[in-house]
Amino acid sequence: MEEIICQGCGASIQTEEEKKPGYAPKSALEKEVVICKRCFRLKHYNEVQDVSLTDDDFLKMISEIRNTDALIVQVVDIFDFNGSFINSLQRLTGSNPILLAGNKVDLLPKSTNKNKLKQWLHHSAKEEGLPVKDVLLVSAEKGIGFDELESAIETYREGKDVYIVGSTNVGKSTLINKLINRTSGISDAITTSYFPGTTLGFIDIPLDEDSSLYDTPGVINRKQMAHYLSDEDVKAITPGKEIKPRVFQLNEQQTLYFGGLARFDFNKGGRKSFVCYFANQLNIHRTKLENADDLYQRHVGELLSPPGQESMELLPEFEKNTMKLTEGKTDVVFPGLGWITIPEGDVTVTVYSPKGVTISIRPSLI
Ligand code: GDP
Repeated sequence: MEEIICQGCGASIQTEEEKKPGYAPKSALEKEVVICKRCFRLKHYNEVQDVSLTDDDFLKMISEIRNTDALIVQVVDIFDFNGSFINSLQRLTGSNPILLAGNKVDLLPKSTNKNKLKQWLHHSAKEEGLPVKDVLLVSAEKGIGFDELESAIETYREGKDVYIVGSTNVGKSTLINKLINRTSGISDAITTSYFPGTTLGFIDIPLDEDSSLYDTPGVINRKQMAHYLSDEDVKAITPGKEIKPRVFQLNEQQTLYFGGLARFDFNKGGRKSFVCYFANQLNIHRTKLENADDLYQRHVGELLSPPGQESMELLPEFEKNTMKLTEGKTDVVFPGLGWITIPEGDVTVTVYSPKGVTISIRPSLI
């Protein structure tokens, strides 16, 4: 096929992969002016739609941003900080200031201490080598936290452009659509911008006469649990509404399985209550530690699912980690899934997650 360029964003038109830049249905090729589906949605519905990038394209995109003087807003999923955080951002974006927007707060139980969550996000970003100016908690879907987000953007951009970046599935498109929606009157002016040297369209939303907010394509993040799962399995682990804590009284030498995607062994510490914060529909299965390996061998993909059969082939093997927790109430965080609050006292646990999807701990949020 001879190369056709999208007249909106400059991406090379392709008809195979819907989630990649330049996708257009075959029927669109017959039109005199060909535009990709993303530009079509934007033009006709004033709606942004996420496309994802390969690592190479991502590097190109980021180096475009490095050459500008702008504010960067990184959107992360608070249920998947480790999986959705882009830590190469600082090195690649030069000295531009960065704001962190933690999305999906609507899913947290009401009793969550939001300040602690912000502190943890701030601290975690710093540990990953990316100092951020401020952390905002939002729900793109419910419109929570947008006054604060908009006001932080105004403060830190100092009249300059704003780039919104994020891994796929963090809710970046939902967030931008919300911002567009709240800025009445401006939506007619949205365009895609062709950045020479890349094949990527950045969506250009004017902020004032001299500056714009740009939506950038989503980055595929290999630390993301969702990356290894079928759409159906992603649905099974993603909370749809506010999480209801589930409490398990465990004796030493008992194990919990979260579907078949994570495992938690309580090794030592007497009889204790563990509070689990996972999607309400995710099955949590309790068993004796001595039976746990065998149960997994025999029942992963069935009793212990997700993963379904399709995802099992993609999913890396479990990696295990034993930790002794003595610092008071602690959350053990399984990125992309949820977390378990470990009570005070001397507690030893062993945690398992697919290799590369790294478990972390933090002072308890609740
Ligand atoms: P993108 O790939 O980063 O552009 O992500 P999308 O905007 O397409 O959102 C990914 C998924 O997260 C969709 O299923 C959204 O409905 C969901 N989502 C986005 N924002 C929120 C939010 O604030 N709360 C909840 N509960 N879900 C959200």
